[in-house]
This record gives sequence, structure tokens and C-alpha cells, in this order.
Amino acid sequence: MKLTEENFKIDYMAAIHATTARQLEDTSSLERYNALGQMIKDYIGSLWANTNASYRADGVKQVYYFSMEFLTGKFLENNLHYLGIYDVTRKGLRALNIDLEDLIEVEMDQGLGNGGLGRLAACFLDAMSSISIPGHGCGIRYKNGLFEQKIIDGNQVEFPDRWLVNNNVWEYKRPNKAVEIRFNGHVETYMEEDRLCFKHVGYDAVRAVPYDTPILGYENNTVNTLRLWSAEEIEDIFDFEYFSKGNYLSAFEKKHSVEIITQILYPNDAYDEGKLLRLKQEYFFVSAGIQSIITTFKKLNLPMTEFSDRVAIHINDTHPALAVPELMRILVDEERLDWDTAWRITTNCISYTNHTIMAEALEKWPLYMMKDLLPRVTMVIEEINRRFIDTLKNIHQYTDENKIHQMAIINDGIVKMAHLAIVGSHSINGVAELHTEILKTRELKDFHNIYPTKFNNKTNGIMHRHWLLNANPRLTDLIEDTIGDGFKKNPIVLRDLLKYREDKAFLDKLYEIKHQNKEDLAKFIKDKLDISVDPYSIFDMQAKRIHEYKRQHMNILHVMHLYNQLKENPNLDMPPRTFIFAGKSAPSYYVAKQIIKLINTVGHVINNDKTIKNKLKVVFLPNYGVSLAGRMIPAADVSEQISTASKEASGTGNMKFMMNGAVTLATLDGANIEIRKEVGENNIVIFGLRDKDVYDYYKNGNYNAFEVYNADPALKKVIDQLINSFLPVPKDEFIPIVDRLLRFNDEYFVLKDFEDYRDAQERIGLYYRNKPHWMKMSLTNIACSGAFSADYTIDKYASGIWHVNRKSLDFKL
Ligand SMILES: *Cc1c(COP(=O)(O)O)cnc(C)c1O
Repeated sequence: MKLTEENFKIDYMAAIHATTARQLEDTSSLERYNALGQMIKDYIGSLWANTNASYRADGVKQVYYFSMEFLTGKFLENNLHYLGIYDVTRKGLRALNIDLEDLIEVEMDQGLGNGGLGRLAACFLDAMSSISIPGHGCGIRYKNGLFEQKIIDGNQVEFPDRWLVNNNVWEYKRPNKAVEIRFNGHVETYMEEDRLCFKHVGYDAVRAVPYDTPILGYENNTVNTLRLWSAEEIEDIFDFEYFSKGNYLSAFEKKHSVEIITQILYPNDAYDEGKLLRLKQEYFFVSAGIQSIITTFKKLNLPMTEFSDRVAIHINDTHPALAVPELMRILVDEERLDWDTAWRITTNCISYTNHTIMAEALEKWPLYMMKDLLPRVTMVIEEINRRFIDTLKNIHQYTDENKIHQMAIINDGIVKMAHLAIVGSHSINGVAELHTEILKTRELKDFHNIYPTKFNNKTNGIMHRHWLLNANPRLTDLIEDTIGDGFKKNPIVLRDLLKYREDKAFLDKLYEIKHQNKEDLAKFIKDKLDISVDPYSIFDMQAKRIHEYKRQHMNILHVMHLYNQLKENPNLDMPPRTFIFAGKSAPSYYVAKQIIKLINTVGHVINNDKTIKNKLKVVFLPNYGVSLAGRMIPAADVSEQISTASKEASGTGNMKFMMNGAVTLATLDGANIEIRKEVGENNIVIFGLRDKDVYDYYKNGNYNAFEVYNADPALKKVIDQLINSFLPVPKDEFIPIVDRLLRFNDEYFVLKDFEDYRDAQERIGLYYRNKPHWMKMSLTNIACSGAFSADYTIDKYASGIWHVNRKSLDFKL
């Protein structure tokens, strides 16, 4: 949009007065931030209204992306860039003696997600808007996002994330669009003109109130909607009788029991807790979302049979899989369609992304629990299951009762959400080539046999405008000066940078930028943790959720090994290294928390040992989230993507690091394989078991961790150091880690891959020392990262799964 500095100042001063009723010099940073947010929101308002009006006028097909998590982070900086008013805002504020950076700092992260899955949803929203796809998010407005992590005495300690304390300037509460959600009670049947009908009675009703956040497209006048639902009591729940008798607490008890539904985000990544409240959350937002989609559709005055021509519903993992029976329930019970018509509409609407194959992450609900909470929806699931089993027997001629039992949606009193999602959708996609292959040939092989055309791959992507343009302005400027700004809308043109692979002046500039980013991070580490790190050392980073399959413990065991070598020979010729970790553990995941403790304990020993001449440092940065990621990633030299092969469905951290010029140190897992394909094998460092080796070991049961431990003295030494008083902790502190690695035979092959990992790290050291060589590798990674932009991923979802078209908007501010 067009905005002069003069007009900016007029609008901003008006916003200051309107929102604070104070003179500018008397306002706090928070008030200044809120005023700026309010002002931007006003600009966005007319674009948003226009977008919705135009979608409705043309009746275009719209996508609704249902996700339990949206890890969006901050909005201010992005919105300024997308409106094209970042520079004028900065200048205008400067003239008023305000630093835009300070205001950006004030905004709290919207941390309504655990990790990759939630962040993917956020990147996809941006991409849908930016490539002009009519597509919206649907989720939960958790009062508390993912917990805040502090490190106290080396341990993770969790604190509530009260992200709403200062108000959320970006959202619009829309009480007039609230809907009712019904839990518990029972189902009555009755006949109406030959038709058997169902009525849910005796239920407890909850009000779902939507809060809408505008999602801007990049310089294209499109504003889609992220609609998050909050639970409130229905008016008459409040108990006047208690209240008037002076029993105030009881009067509010029921209100509290309702509001708890959207109080917290479950802090588990890739783990199914199986709690009743979680099931409530899932139904709550799915039912609310579908009800509001149907209301919107009805404004078009079309027959219900055209629903799936105008609406695509995507479910991000199985958490929203109740969309299948809920849509069926509404179409059959309320819209009075016959089952087969309703089923055709439902399966045509819904598509499903599978995010993991790890058994502990697959959602399963006890049938009795589901029946109690959702009596009618469960009946619908039972009918879907009955018909599915019929199809297996009669259409596919299955006679193997065992196989039918395994494939059923409900068996042994358990409802399997993945099976429900597969049967009830027209598309099932994996998130990287290897992952999709594993789904088709192993984990979901039986389903692939009967539905071969439903399965497809959509490799994850990231929002390059966030992870490159916002996070790394120095690099962005260099790229723009070198190849122009075409990459902002079409990131594949980053490939033009390959021409500069032999250009020493360019590589020097690239080195200088990386170095400045490292200086910035070193300063941040000094301020936060009082640890001095050398910006000339290799910044080797592993930043992601802490999990045994991601193998942060393999990384820290290798650090201990380097330390042992330095202790034996302080003059060892080794490039100085700084190992930087960040990530949260699920609060109830004991071993993962011990891994955090181990990293901090080893860090304490190494960082305080003067004899190794600062050749080694270990840093654990607390509270990993979108903002911290944006600070860390531009300063990385090495990106650790070292999961056990077959376990990481895709990974997206790997793509962000690559885009910022880090060299990937990786197993052949998830999207690492596709990164290798893009950059070529000379520009990535690969090690470790392949997925096939891992499956063979599991199948044959012929892996013996003790043998590996006994055969490798360097490995044995570091494992022994966990429990022989080498570390300043009680002797039994790390026994649980050692037990996992030895007594329980090392499920994730940490010991097996250790030697190969050590060699790979040595290669990293050699390459790094050859500066021109290293910078060429770094440049190649940046240049080839465009392929992983979420813009392209979403384009493939739109044409291959959703069948929606781009809708260009010419309205301008
Ligand atoms: C990208 C991202 C992740 C995912 O990282 P992986 O390495 O793919 O597990 C997790 N958390 C945050 C905050 C992220 O930005």
C-alpha cells in the first residue's frame, strides 16, 4: 500500500491517542506497540472485508485447514513487510524517537503449537494467502500456549505461557458467530415418514466463540482468516441459586469446568496422551469449525449436494479426524441426506496428512469414553466401521478375519483415529518422499492395497519470507543486490546464486554476513547465559523438540568424546567448536528431561575448563520457539539433523537452516534425502544407518547394543562417564539414559551410529577449515533452498488434493 512518512505519523499519533489517551512521551513500549498494531489492523480491515466479499460473490471453492496447533509466532514485522510499509514505518517511528525493533520485541509469540506440526500449519496459512488460495485455518484459542521453559540447575522447569496477558491486538472476537457444542447425554430414535431419525438429548452444551486473525498474503491484497475457537459457558449455566445464597465459588464452578476446554495446549510432541479433555478439545473445535463452514456455505443458496464443490476440509494429522463423523452427522441428522450421498460429500471434502509412523503417537480412544462423551458421533463411527468391514468382505473379497480385525476402525473396544481418517477422506499424504514410501509399503500397506490412488506425497515446506527475509535481513539484502528481488515471490530463482560459486568477492561477503550473525548470537548468549563463545568457532546447532529419536544424546556424547580427546592432548589440532542446543521436552518425558540435564551438565564442565583453551563450548538456549529460532538459525554453520533413519517424517528445521547457509549433517531420513538431492552429495554430510537397516534390525532382532559398546573404547569411555562420577551430579543421575542405551538395547541406534557420526563430524571440521570450499557449500545450500518454499508445497496441495484455484484480487489500499 502507499503510505508517506507524513501520513504515517498522523495515523500513528491518532492511534496513540485513541488507544492510550496519553501523550506519546508518557506511553510505554507496550502501549506504543499496541497502537501500531491497532493502526495496521485498520489498514488490513478493508483488504480483509474485500477478500471475503469477493470469495462470496464468486462462490469460489475454499479450503479449511483444520489443525490442533498453529505455531504462528509474531505478526507485526510480517504484516508490515506484506503491506509494503516496513521502511516507511521504521522511518516514521524514528522521527518520533521510537525504534521499530523495540516494538517488534514487545510482541509475545503466539505459541499455540508444540513443534514442526504446528509451525507447518502456520507456514501453510501464509503460503495460502501469498499465492492467492482462498484458504483459512481452524483451530483452538488456547489461553496458555506451550509452556515457557527455564533451565534451573540444569533442569527444564515449566512455567505457564500467559501470552494473552497484554491482550492480543491482532484478533477479532466474533460473539455473534458463536455456535453450540454438545457433550454427553444420550441418543433417542424416532420415525419420521419412514425415516429412522436420531436425536441427541440430555447433553451438556458449551458455547464456542470464534476469534479471527487476519492472515495477509505477500503484497497481493489477499487476507485470509485464522479462526480459533474459545470455550465459554452458555448464559444459563451460571447458577443464580448458588449465587443468591452467597455460595459464590459454586456458582462459578460450572463456568470453570467449561472454560477449561480451551485452557491449555497439551505439551506432547509426537505422543498421544489419551486424556478425556483432549478428546473434548478435538470435538470442540472440529464441530465448531464445521458448523461455521456450513453456515457460510448456506449463504450461497446452493443445494447441499454441491457442498464438496465449494468446500475442501484438510485435517492436519488425526487430531481433527472427528471431522469425518461430525460432517456425516450434520448431513444425515440435520440436513436429512441419505447415508450414501452424505458419505460421498464427506469423503470428497476431507483430505488427511499423516505426520508420523511412531506407534506412541497414533491416536486411539477407548470406545466407552467416546460413547460417553459423544454418543451420536460414536454411533456414526460405528456405522462407518460396519460399512467399511462390509466393503472389505464383499467388494475386496477379504476372508482373513485377522486382517479385517487389524484394519477395522474399531476393534477390541478401541477407536483408531488414523483408520477413521483414511477411510473417511479422498487423499492421504505423507510429508516427504521416504515417509510416503514407508506409509505405502509398510505402515499403511493394507490400506494402500485397497486405496492405491488415495495415497500421495507432499513434501513439507517452509515460509522463506519468514525464515530468510525476516530472520536474516543481511543475507536478504546481499541476495537482492546480487540477483534482484524476484526470489521473494518466486524463491526457486535463488538458484541464480549458483553462478557465484567461484566468485571470491561474493563468497567473502557471504562469509562476512555469517560472521556478523554469529557475533550477534554470541552477544545474545553472553547476555542471556553469561557464556563467552568465539564467533570464529564452528557454530554447530541442534534446535528442535528434545526426543530420543532425534538423538540429542548422540550429539552430546560426541561432544564428550571431543572433550576427552582434548584432555588427552590439549594441543590437538582441531577447529574450535561451539555446540548450541535448544528445545523443549514434554514435561512428563523423563528421559528427554534427563538429556537436557546432561547437555547442561556437560556444558558446565567444559565451559569452565581453562585447560582446553576455549576450543570447545556447549550452550543450551532456553525456551525454543519461533522467535528464538529466528535468532539462532541465521548464525548456524552446521545443522544437525541426526534422527534415526525412518523416524523423522520430514523435518522442517533442516530446510530453515539450509536456507540460511548452514551445511547439513544428516542421516538419510525425512526431507534430508531431498535436500541431498537438491544440493548434491558434496554439499551435505551424510552418515549412519539407512531406513532399511533399521527395519531389518527390528525384524530380525539381531542388534546388540552391548556388543557395540564393548567394541569401541571411545564410545565405552563416554558412556561410562555418565555414571562414574566424571560429571558433578549424583552417581545415579543418568542411569535412566544409560539403561535406555544398554539394558533396553538402544531402540534408536545411538551406539550403532556413533562411530559413523564421529567420522562425519571430522569431515565437517576438515571442510570448515578450507574456507573457500566451505563457503561454496554454504552458498549452494542457500541457492538450492527455494525448492522447499511452502508456496510450492501449497500449490501442489491446491492442484493435487483440494482442487481449488488461485483467486487474484485487484482491490488495492
Ligand atoms: C521449525 C520448527 C520446529 C521443527 O523443527 P524440526 O527440526 O523439524 O523438528 C520446531 N519448533 C520450532 C519453533 C520451529 O520453528
